[in-house]
Amino acid sequence: MQHLAQSLLELITQTSTNLPPDVRAAMAHALDIETPGTQSQQALSVIASNIDMAEEDAGPICQDTGMPTFLIHTPVGFNQLKLAAAIREAVAEATRRGKLRPNSVDSITGKNSGDNLGEETPVLHFEQWEHDEVEIKLILKGGGCENKNIQYSLPCDLDHLGRAGRDLAGVKKCILHAVWQAQGQGCAPGAVGVCIGSDRGHGYVLAKYQLFRTLDDVNPNPVLAKLEAEIMEEANRIGVGAMGFGGNASLIGCKITAANRLPASFFVSVAYDCWAFRRLGVRLDGQTGAINQWLYRDPQSPIKKMARGEGFPLTGREVILTPPLTAEQMRSLKVGDVVLIRGTMFTGRDNVHAYLMKNPPPADLNGAALYHCGPVMLKQGEEWFVKAAGPTTSSREEPYQADVLRRYGVKAVIGKGGMGAKTLAARKECGAGYLNGIGGAAQFYARTVKKVHGVHLMEFGIPEAMWHLEVHDFPAIVTMDAHGNSLHADVEQKTGELLEALRA
Ligand code: SF4
Repeated sequence: MQHLAQSLLELITQTSTNLPPDVRAAMAHALDIETPGTQSQQALSVIASNIDMAEEDAGPICQDTGMPTFLIHTPVGFNQLKLAAAIREAVAEATRRGKLRPNSVDSITGKNSGDNLGEETPVLHFEQWEHDEVEIKLILKGGGCENKNIQYSLPCDLDHLGRAGRDLAGVKKCILHAVWQAQGQGCAPGAVGVCIGSDRGHGYVLAKYQLFRTLDDVNPNPVLAKLEAEIMEEANRIGVGAMGFGGNASLIGCKITAANRLPASFFVSVAYDCWAFRRLGVRLDGQTGAINQWLYRDPQSPIKKMARGEGFPLTGREVILTPPLTAEQMRSLKVGDVVLIRGTMFTGRDNVHAYLMKNPPPADLNGAALYHCGPVMLKQGEEWFVKAAGPTTSSREEPYQADVLRRYGVKAVIGKGGMGAKTLAARKECGAGYLNGIGGAAQFYARTVKKVHGVHLMEFGIPEAMWHLEVHDFPAIVTMDAHGNSLHADVEQKTGELLEALRA
């Protein structure tokens, strides 16, 4: 197996940096149907540029490279233990090279292993088959969309949709609800893998397996094919739009399987994946480990560029924000304004926020811009470089954010997906704004970082540390202002009404 290590590294690198053609086509369609000049269209434009940048520079499409999940078929009698060891080594090597973010955290100690290896990470599903080749499929699905996975136990009552019974009409309500509840937090437009039936644990596994299907295939089961088509049509009428800004493109794929269930149980398990739908595969020579064939992509076909213009179309009406910021400046902003940040930003996500509840900040946050981001960083010599740096889901910080605003004087919070009522009230009180970045646009935002000034709290691991970044023209949209307005609350209400209209 002299070529195995190289083949595995190539599979991981390509998966992290190069979206497969079926996802590109689906995203191109999303761009086609979005209304020009809207915030959703702006978001899609950034996403398109980001997809191109990632492929050109072989950098991670999104900074959250997810839980590496492999689905492997080997010939009968093949040594799966050795293959598992080779996959683990390739994952560690890809992490060292900055193609994967160190994402494996000990659930008891909270320590990041630093190399993406640990208990049950990466996730390896082995199966045997009657072929001589080894087939390895890989999916990288990040935490933002993973957190929007959802499981329903029928019968149940759903917001805006009423009772979902134990039949296909009930299943359909669950899937529509799953798309709606994700809003922008899973980086819409997304795709759903669905399992009807099975038990709780296996239902989720089978739902995720559906994400290994191409977005443009047709379900061989005509009943499920019809349901998939109906969901695609109806979910895109709900109006969630890219990043939850409201718009025409909410769902780029729906893939459904059905498994037998216990008489007493009727689960519908939904695996929600974001637009950064990273999935590739290879068939390897069973003797040498060389790549015989790529799955989902043809390396001989030229890669179609996604961008149709500049990444974030500027109008000249953008507001320049140069931290430290004042309450007066933030109160002058309103929902819908576009800002360009110039100067220092601090990253901070789950661990930093929890830390700030009990400890003073390691840097002066008065007037600061706090970026919900877990970047991919590489150290060269004594200097750190940003390899990927898009926003993470802000709602996780909802329990802490209001206190952070009040105690430390943070004036701008940058993230994605919006925050809740508690934070909105604190923004009004303190004169602070919420600026929505484009989720997953990790290469696009990495290019706005001109220097890494330093880092605090490295004991939390690279994604959770507090990085001091010097940025130039970092674009974001005001989606929660200091007057109590929230685009997220408005879109949730409006999409809820549209969902209600779909009620059978
Ligand atoms: S695109 Fe969004 S949901 Fe997907 S991995 Fe990146 S941050 Fe997470």
